[in-house]
Amino acid sequence: MYNLKQHFLDRVGTHIDALSSARNAFVEGSSDAGDSIRRIAHSLKGSGGTYGFPSVSEMAEAVETASDETLLDSLSALLDHLFILRSQTTIDRPVLLIVEDNKEDQLILQSIFPAEKYQVYLAGTAAEALDLLSQHAIHLILLDLILPDSDGRNLLVDFRESPHTVHTPVIILSAKDSPQTKSECFALGANEYLVKPVDPEVLATAVGAKLEQAQKIKSELRIDTLTELPNRAAFHEEFLRYKAQALRHKWSLSLAMIDLDHFKNVNDTYGHLVGDRALQYFSRGLSQSLRKSDFVSRWGGEEFVALFPDSTPAGTRGALQKFAKRLVEKPLKHPSDKDVIIHITFSAGVTKVTPTSSINDAVSDADELLYSAKNSGRNRIITKLEEAETRIYSILIAEDDELTADFITHRLKKSGYHITHFISGSEALKAAEESPFDLIILDVKMPGMDGFEVLRNLRKTQLNGSVPIIMLTSMGRENDIVKGLDLGANDYMLKPFSATELLARIHRLLK
Ligand code: GH3
Ligand code: MG
Ligand code: MG
Ligand code: MG
Repeated sequence: MYNLKQHFLDRVGTHIDALSSARNAFVEGSSDAGDSIRRIAHSLKGSGGTYGFPSVSEMAEAVETASDETLLDSLSALLDHLFILRSQTTIDRPVLLIVEDNKEDQLILQSIFPAEKYQVYLAGTAAEALDLLSQHAIHLILLDLILPDSDGRNLLVDFRESPHTVHTPVIILSAKDSPQTKSECFALGANEYLVKPVDPEVLATAVGAKLEQAQKIKSELRIDTLTELPNRAAFHEEFLRYKAQALRHKWSLSLAMIDLDHFKNVNDTYGHLVGDRALQYFSRGLSQSLRKSDFVSRWGGEEFVALFPDSTPAGTRGALQKFAKRLVEKPLKHPSDKDVIIHITFSAGVTKVTPTSSINDAVSDADELLYSAKNSGRNRIITKLEEAETRIYSILIAEDDELTADFITHRLKKSGYHITHFISGSEALKAAEESPFDLIILDVKMPGMDGFEVLRNLRKTQLNGSVPIIMLTSMGRENDIVKGLDLGANDYMLKPFSATELLARIHRLLK
């Protein structure tokens, strides 16, 4: 039945957009945004029922009848639900990767798979193919065997080893017609082998059939269609298997709950399609950076749950920290504007799974730790140990006057803060763009790039969009205060100041 249900799903994106922008207006205090939200919810309540989505109706009704105080909570629940529906059911254009170095063959293939029906990525080399695969979710691969930088068979081996392409159908297109090459390719995991020149109709039919088979396999394997990771149901099954295995080998098993930080901002800033891309990029990077024996799945929305066999919580934390570092070093670029960097950070709670812990025990333990990771500033991974220790905050100071800098550094170190000091604005900016700080102190007057300039640049980035910033300005330059606050500073200190006062302000901002 392409049918009522699909008709509704085709429009889910529009509802998500409308609800998201009304929510932003509501948060910003618009007086009639609440009414818009309730109106949209009212219409969803009706159409959800008509088109066969009773869960949508129910949640939409909760939004429609919510008070202003509870409106945002019920709206979040509804939006999450709509996201999941969309990611699980949207029938998008199939995404093909064509690995072919011959220009003429490329043109022929592009004409067989036109852009209105397929989204096609072209790679002329093996290296390009691997690069495209690390950036995009691909549904099917057409692979030429003779490539300038590698043999297509080597690529085939790579595809079958990576969790993201292990089930992706691969059709070999080659001029080689020998039975030996063919059977080798099948042995390496090819799904089809067509000899060039290929009949367009045969190829199109083969692609259609393989796509359909792959779809079926995915739903049997319980793979989430957006991220290509196993879904929550798959996690439930694997949990028991991993626990039994840990018991048998007497090794330690750890579980991590992982949640992206301020992910709403990504959707609100760049739109939900880019948000989806970010989720794909994150999932891919995460499973690539962990061990093959680790198990990563999508818990729902922007939350992931992972199992780490033969790992203590401290070891697991180390593995996740390595991935966090990699996300900073290789951030996602905006799909349509490569100059725009989309910074993603995550928080995680890591717990030990004991032989007696149920899924619920382990997940709720990890959830609690995740909660404290969020509360202590996000972008961190917490185990029971760290939770017990008091956190060491890291503060960046940009101040060109040695005396003032020494005075602050000395005093803050004594209070247990970790201090990084630069005498120039540009160096400080560079450091803050590379790794996050918990708080930043900026002198206004510095040679070269002054404090305002640094502040303006910091606020433009997602990593530092909301980090607390204190400006230092000299007595008699009170105008600076207004300018600093306008540019997004959270507080200011007039020089000379007392250390106690500075500490109190830092303390307040870090809370
Ligand atoms: P926090 O750091 O506290 O986790 O902040 P957050 O904004 O990440 O958390 P919150 O739970 O408030 O919001 C999560 C958002 O993730 C809600 C929804 O907009 C977004 N989201 C969930 N699933 C999807 C999805 O499949 N695609 C997209 N684009 N966004 C999703
Ligand atoms: Mg070739
Ligand atoms: Mg969340
Ligand atoms: Mg989140």
